[in-house]
Amino acid sequence: MADRLYSTREVCSRLNCSRATVTRLVARGLLVPVKFMGHNRFKGEDLVQFIAEQTHDDVAVIRGALQMLSEAHAEEDRQLCPSCTKRRVNRGHSMCTRCEEQHELQLAHKRKWWDKHGAERRAAQRQAEAADLDEVGS
Ligand SMILES: [Zn+2]
Repeated sequence: MADRLYSTREVCSRLNCSRATVTRLVARGLLVPVKFMGHNRFKGEDLVQFIAEQTHDDVAVIRGALQMLSEAHAEEDRQLCPSCTKRRVNRGHSMCTRCEEQHELQLAHKRKWWDKHGAERRAAQRQAEAADLDEVGS
């Protein structure tokens, strides 16, 4: 198979794929055609290598999946959130993302409450002072 040129039709039958797939493989640079009498031809050795790489790719996919699993496992080394004790804390944070958001909301709520409360108290104080002044005036 390695020592001659193959037409697109032959590549399709060898790879058991459609003409469109071969076109895609060429566009992605996975198969490199050579021009022969104005037509695309594929070197047998390229096809052999491509098929070998496909098998190799499966191994790479499995290796990648295992790598991701071990990374996910390593992430479980992160501390549990002290607030909810359910979720993990990201590096550089003191609480999980969810609890941080909740904490922020609570703080905002408190700030708003104190702003309102403070304003009311100041208004009441001003009124009391005005009443005192009225008393003094009478
Ligand atoms: Zn939490």
